[in-house]
Amino acid sequence: MTTIIKRYVETDTGHRVPNHKSKCKHLHGHRYRFEAEIEGDIVTESGVSEEGMLMDFSDISRVLTTYVHDIIDHAFVLYEGDEEAKKACAAMGDGHRTVIVPFIPTAENLAKWAFEQVQPHIQTAYGNRLQLVAMHCRETPKSMATWRP
Ligand SMILES: [Zn+2]
Repeated sequence: MTTIIKRYVETDTGHRVPNHKSKCKHLHGHRYRFEAEIEGDIVTESGVSEEGMLMDFSDISRVLTTYVHDIIDHAFVLYEGDEEAKKACAAMGDGHRTVIVPFIPTAENLAKWAFEQVQPHIQTAYGNRLQLVAMHCRETPKSMATWRP
């Protein structure tokens, strides 16, 4: 029997989709929600801190905060090939938080990116006992993408 737990972190992040046919080509931002879905067996060992849990929710938060939130919160995430936007953010000076990525920063690609940011840290801490099985990226109240390898 396996159980699934979910925990999310939110970021305020700017982006644009440079080749989009409509308004997504403009520089703008979202309050993103990155939700990790972790699957595994409940700890049955008596007397340990995680008895009755898959893992401590605060430990998931710590990983999401360090490797997702702290990297892209209050930053602009730009595709490495988006020369116009890179130039605009560079004009803001050294203090501007710009994160250059090798993909178009859509919700789909950001979900995959966040999965790859988090997965090694779950793997290192929990080995085969727990698996990160999906990462959801909610871009607006109506739209969300899921990366599930
Ligand atoms: Zn957008």
